[in-house]
Amino acid sequence: MTHAKAKETTGFLWTEEGEPLQGVVAEVAPILPVNHTYSFAVPASFEGRVAVGQRVRVPMGRGGRLVPAFVLALDRRTWDSTLRPIHSPIDPASFLTPDLIEVGRQIAAHYACPLGRTLKAITPEAVRRQRGLVKARYARLVRSLEEIRALGRRIGPKRWALLSVLPAADAVRVEQVLRDSRTSPAVLRALVKEGWVETETRWEVETDETIDGLPVEPTFALNDEQRSALDAIQTAIDAQRFSVTLLFGVSGCGKTEVYIRAMRRVIEAGRQAILLVPEIVLTTQLVGRLTSRFSQVAVLHSELTEAQRSLIWRRIAGGEKKVVIGTRSAVFAPCPKLGLICVDEEQETSFKNLQAPRFHVRDIAILRAKQLGIPVVLGSATPSLETWYRSDHHRDYRRVVISRRVRDLPLPKVHIVDMEDEIAEQKKAVLLSRALETLLGETLHRGEQALILVNRRGFAHHVFCPACRTRLTCPQCSVGLVVHTTTGQAVCHYCRCRIPTPTICPVVTCGAKLMQVGSGTQRIEALLAERFPHARIQRVDSDTMRHRSHYQRIVDDFEARKIDVLVGTQMIAKGLDFPFVSFVGMVAADAGGLAGDFRAHERLFQLVTQVAGRAGRADAPGRVVVQTMNPALPALSHALRHDYESFAESELRSRQRVGWPPFRRLARVVLSHPREETARREAEALVVRVQNTIESLALARADILGPHPCPLARLRGRYRYDVLIRTPDAASLRNLLGRLDSDGALRTKAASTIVDVDPVSMA
Ligand SMILES: [Zn+2]
Ligand SMILES: [Zn+2]
Repeated sequence: MTHAKAKETTGFLWTEEGEPLQGVVAEVAPILPVNHTYSFAVPASFEGRVAVGQRVRVPMGRGGRLVPAFVLALDRRTWDSTLRPIHSPIDPASFLTPDLIEVGRQIAAHYACPLGRTLKAITPEAVRRQRGLVKARYARLVRSLEEIRALGRRIGPKRWALLSVLPAADAVRVEQVLRDSRTSPAVLRALVKEGWVETETRWEVETDETIDGLPVEPTFALNDEQRSALDAIQTAIDAQRFSVTLLFGVSGCGKTEVYIRAMRRVIEAGRQAILLVPEIVLTTQLVGRLTSRFSQVAVLHSELTEAQRSLIWRRIAGGEKKVVIGTRSAVFAPCPKLGLICVDEEQETSFKNLQAPRFHVRDIAILRAKQLGIPVVLGSATPSLETWYRSDHHRDYRRVVISRRVRDLPLPKVHIVDMEDEIAEQKKAVLLSRALETLLGETLHRGEQALILVNRRGFAHHVFCPACRTRLTCPQCSVGLVVHTTTGQAVCHYCRCRIPTPTICPVVTCGAKLMQVGSGTQRIEALLAERFPHARIQRVDSDTMRHRSHYQRIVDDFEARKIDVLVGTQMIAKGLDFPFVSFVGMVAADAGGLAGDFRAHERLFQLVTQVAGRAGRADAPGRVVVQTMNPALPALSHALRHDYESFAESELRSRQRVGWPPFRRLARVVLSHPREETARREAEALVVRVQNTIESLALARADILGPHPCPLARLRGRYRYDVLIRTPDAASLRNLLGRLDSDGALRTKAASTIVDVDPVSMA
């Protein structure tokens, strides 16, 4: 704001006429790509209708274009004559609690995203649009019937009929008033004009449905380790201050029961709890267990209608819902009395938001808990190395361990098969090893179930011409097309473009027959069907799982033992617990490219451990076969022994040596342009600007890696280059990005730019 026309005397502002301008001033963040906040006057007519967290329309720029903006703060003060007024309120209520606004400010700063856009991302679209709410008009008496009578005016029978159905104090829905008095809206309008009746608009919930059943309490007791884990968490809850507890427990150790009892403690104290899960569709069993144990549960998932989502949000805001379960967006549930946040499988990459602001849900949960002074529980069998490291070195963190599986189930036996040896011995390019086939055959023979994990979808991943070596690639992206036999199409898994699978080399002068190699879920499914013709086999990947109901049906059928073998991508490795699975096979535990991503080893360890954890029964240890071309990888040998701690120790040592997280903080800037030359030039220019800023801020131990062509060098027709910025800690990264942003140095007009702080994908 400017002070051009105002005279300043003794700290007060006066207009030219000598009048002080006073009233309510709103600080707002417009939903625009700008990092500033602005002050606007709240006209007296809007007072009481504008609250912190609500959206309003404000005029921006010289043209006064109306832009939606979030109200961040309101206070009564004097201002100068140039302060522009708010145009109009948008929302009838706010769904941003004060702690969420503060969390939003921190997200905006940490992830280099404008505040208005960040707050927009925090409130679901449906909630912002007030879906599920209807406008209802109410009428009330302004003057009592006695007063009106005392006026001595002649009042027609219709008007009198309407007046007499209105109660003395309350407002009544207009429809009801008209119905009860058998009058028309014109009569009501006339009474409003007289000043005897007034009407108002309220927002009301359109639908009212409840998903709550009666809670059922199981009778079993916790084992000693579960008991002491729960004790530690309850101590944290009772302390009523911020802390992070890493619940480190092998798969099948009963972490869910610990969450449930911790949440119960919080609810008994009159507060609310949030449980964050990586993906609802993959956690139907967990969600089922929770909804059967609590009576006021809100489950937020992607298939809710907008009206349902909006309604649930309102119920949470009203404090009516005690437990909130959901994926990413649930971390922003507007709980007025939040007492605990649990994050299950905290290491999952699906917790990272893929659009700006590119936040990580686990980190937001910690941020929010810190803001509110409440505990967080992070659960995992294979914690992210960041969390593991902090649980050793951070004073707010503690670690509790559950090392035994429930009912003392033994850990499965893991066999690593070197596929190079296998192929050499069999003298042909086989996809399934003899060990995998033999153990699977024995499992089926005993009438038990098996999971076969394949890390890619489709049938063949490499379609090429043996004569001229032409490879079938996406015209838009630098990746090969994947053949899908179900549709007969060759598909790009990145941009989803598809063509009918060619059989003949596309090079006109060649015309040789194309070959298909490489294994996806479809090919393994076909191979298994051939090898085990009597087995009932079902494929589970994102091609077959278009809806939650598909997945649920397969889970139900598998539980009912109508399916013998599930073949699928890592979807089958997550969140499920089937008592009759005694064998797990992993077809290729190394493809997917270890180069270029410093987290590749960590992911491989997590995947092998996770999938192995699905095998095992009470009476016999499960068997696991892991096929690989790189049997010497430490990630595999540690996973073989179920030894997370040794893996973490060796992996952390090498990360420290090279300077990767958690020892340094990282931001990845990806620049892309249809012309390769432009993308590279812009990336080089960015490096110069970042280097200059590092020097001008005198940041110690900050450096830049790149520019490099991204591993996915071309995507949707754009060439991609990345620049990695490393700093010793989060504060200096924030400082650096903040300065770059305010200097306009981070984004360029020439190439499109993505800034990803704490990236989890380096593709
Ligand atoms: Zn050819
Ligand atoms: Zn493509």
